[in-house]
This record gives sequence, C-alpha cells and structure tokens, in this order.
Amino acid sequence: MMIRKSLLVLFVLGSLTSFAQKDKKLVEETVTKESIQAKIEFLASDEMRGRNTPSPELDLAARYLASHLKENGVQIIPGMDTYYQPVQMVESFPPSDGGLTVGDTIYGFDTALLMMSGESADLEGEIIYLNYGSEADFAGADVEGKIVVVRTGSSAKSTAYEAFEEGRKKKERAMKAGAVSLVELYGSPQPTWKILRYYMGSAKVGLAEEMPEEKSMPHVWLDDASGESRSFFEEFEGTGSLSVKGAREDYFTTYNVMGVVEGTDKELKDEYVIFSAHYDHVGVGELNAEGDSIFNGTRDNAVGTVTVMEAVKNIGKYPLKRSSVFIFFTGEEKGLLGSEWYVNHPVVPLKETKLCYNADNGGYNDTTFAMIVGLERVTSADDMVSACEAFGLEGKPDQVLDQNLYMRSDHYSFADKGVPGVMFGMAATAFDEGIFKYLHQQTDNPDSIDFDYMLKYSRAYVLGGRLIGNGKETPAWNKKDEFYKKGEELYN
Ligand SMILES: [Zn+2]
Repeated sequence: MMIRKSLLVLFVLGSLTSFAQKDKKLVEETVTKESIQAKIEFLASDEMRGRNTPSPELDLAARYLASHLKENGVQIIPGMDTYYQPVQMVESFPPSDGGLTVGDTIYGFDTALLMMSGESADLEGEIIYLNYGSEADFAGADVEGKIVVVRTGSSAKSTAYEAFEEGRKKKERAMKAGAVSLVELYGSPQPTWKILRYYMGSAKVGLAEEMPEEKSMPHVWLDDASGESRSFFEEFEGTGSLSVKGAREDYFTTYNVMGVVEGTDKELKDEYVIFSAHYDHVGVGELNAEGDSIFNGTRDNAVGTVTVMEAVKNIGKYPLKRSSVFIFFTGEEKGLLGSEWYVNHPVVPLKETKLCYNADNGGYNDTTFAMIVGLERVTSADDMVSACEAFGLEGKPDQVLDQNLYMRSDHYSFADKGVPGVMFGMAATAFDEGIFKYLHQQTDNPDSIDFDYMLKYSRAYVLGGRLIGNGKETPAWNKKDEFYKKGEELYN
C-alpha cells in the first residue's frame, strides 16, 4: 500500500490506530500459537482422512465446529434449529463397462459414449429419432418404451453449456413420455470429445436441489464429430439395446456449519459480516513414495478453518458493532458447492450481508505477507492491510493473477450475487514448486506448517475482521470494480 499524504487522512488514520491498538490486544489475548496448533493437529490429522465430501470424517469435523461455536457463545441463527445447514448432494459414478448396440454397430463407454446421468441398466427398445428433442419434436411422437435419439443443444449454434442445460430438459420430457433412454448426438467441434471425456468421465459430486423418487433413466452423449451417426439414425428403423454397468447415483447430505454473534451497536447490528472457510478437503488417494495416501489438507484448508475458529473464539468473547456470521462450508473442493447452496438458500438476507471475509489457502512460499485476493475490489482494504501490518506482515493483493484465484473459493459465490467478497490467504509469489509440493498432495501434513507464520496470519485475519466489524464504513465494492454493478442491483 502506498502511504497517503493528505493531513486529513493522516489524522483519520491516527485516530483509527488507537482503536486498532485496543483490538490488537484483544486478538493477542485469545489467538495463540497453542490454540492454533491444537486445532490444526486435530482437523488435519490422519484420523480425519482428508475430510472428503462425503465422508464420516467430514461429518465429524462438522460436529467439532458446531461444538466450538456453542462453547464460544455463538448463537444458532434465528430461523434455524441447529448450527447445521443441510446441503443436498449427489455423487455420480460413471459406467465401468457397456455400450449401445444398434444393428452391427457397438458404441462403447470406453470411447464413443459418455454417461450424462442415470444408473446401471440393461434395456432394449425401438429407436426413434427426434431431431433436437424440443418440446415440438416430442409433441405427438410415441416414445413409450423406446430409446430416443436426438442432437445435443437446440441448434447447430448451441454452446456446450446450453447443450447441458437443454439435455436436462430433454431427459425430463423423455422420462415423462415413457422412453427408456435418451441418447444425444454430440457434433460440436468445441469442446472436443476428448476434452469432454476428460472432464465428465470420472465420478462427480454436485448439488441436488431435488432428490428423485424413481431410479434415473440412462442419458448418454454419443460422439458424432463426423455427423455420420446423425445420417445413420435419421434413416434407421428397428431396435437397439443399451447396457450400462457399474453406474450409480448416490444422494447424500453434508452440512454447512454456522452461527451468529449479534452486533452490539443498535444500528450497525443489522449489517452482517460473514467470516467463512471451507472445512472439507479431498480425502484419501494413491500411496506416494513415502507410503502416505492421506491428503491431510493442512494448508487447504485446515489453516483457514482454524483461523475462522479463532475469530469465533475472539468475537464470541468480544463482540463487534456489526453482527458476525461464521460459516464453515462443505464441498468447496467439489466446486464451491456449500457456498453455492448457501447463497441460494441464505439464512441471513444477502441484502443485509455486507462482506464475505473468507479464509482459504492453497499454500505459501513466502512468510513476509498475507495475500488478500480481491483486496483492491473492496472498500475495507485499509483495515485488512493495517491488520497485517500490526502483526509484522505486509497485506498484498493477489500475486498470482494467472491462477484466477478470485473465482476459486467460496467468496466467489457471494461476489456472483453482488455481495463483496475477498479471500484472505497465505503468501504466494508464484504457483511454483514451493506451492505444488503441498497443494492437493499427501505431503500437506500438519507438521509441515510454519506456526510462527500461521500465528501472524491468523491474528491479522481476526484483527482485520474486528476493524471491519467495528468500523464506521459499511464494506462495499469499489466503484470501478467489475462487481460494483451487481452490488448496486443487490443493495438498491
Ligand atoms: Zn483445494
């Protein structure tokens, strides 16, 4: 940060500092190396088996976090019965074998087919070709007991994203009309079939707003880059058979863990600051050369989780003027799922939520600064930077812009709805070996952390939160920021 030269600003900064001094003392009192280390050593232990979504250990971590909220005087959020917000999810496992047989041709799941949704099946039916499978294409067609073949999307210009969305509707139409399966012919040049298979061909966890009552019909895409299959199916008359082996969809619930400390100021208490971190990681994988298969997720993100736990302890004891909401998110590693669920089912109105102050980490390769991704976007930057400086760290914005970090953690779900969000992280000068050595690796063990650095980082985070929660200015987007307009739409 540059030093500002106006006398007026100096005066304002000076008076802020005396408040900050008091807050700094409160932070030093409650946030200690021992309290940090004790929590890290539990959350990132081998016994927690990498806190995968879903896993019994993830639920155990949730229990631990809820206990911590309760122990520190954090209240259950009005309208909720517990500290847990259930988040419904589905894990889809792709087929291990099988294929579509039509006449002499077999399209196998090994190359030509991609499972979009549905479970194992062995079925036969008459083939019926319905162009793009629009509402009009289905109207009047008799598809009862048949395998419906259509093209992806709604026109030759459809993007892959539109094709996914359309595909979901087509499947609903096909199921409603009594079809036994839906096959879509994928002929777009981009993304290529190879890339689609790379991204879609393994087990996936996603949100499940609704849990279906019946077993889901197989819905597959068939590679048709050449257009030959389309010509073939347009003319084809007869039956086909589809065999899907080993595919399943498991529905389950995991939890965002949350609570509130009401603000002490009559007016400011209606403004909420969210202190958040994701507590999940990626579980257990292959054995590495050292015989370790547990991805402990110390940096990512026991560090952030514990840092927010320290904020819980501190603010539980010394509440702020604004209300503080603490949220520990599930399913971040599967695609920001817990936070996406939250912003679509907010417990505190988003309009009253002024900042998502998120702590998340990939790793660090420098111990002289904290990296606050999104720092330059929000009006609270000075508070965060002076909090860092109070504990001997520099507060810097994103240093690895090529990594697109702003879109890669839970604060982004909020930003996307218009709520200002930042990610308070440890220092990365580049995504180099120092980062990749631990990032999503079995080596990310609790004993590999520099706890002197983590103490500074955690204290800086908690103090930053105190300054924001007690400050005169309501957190907001900076006027020139690309999210400013979304903020205007949300708050006005
Ligand atoms: Zn991660």
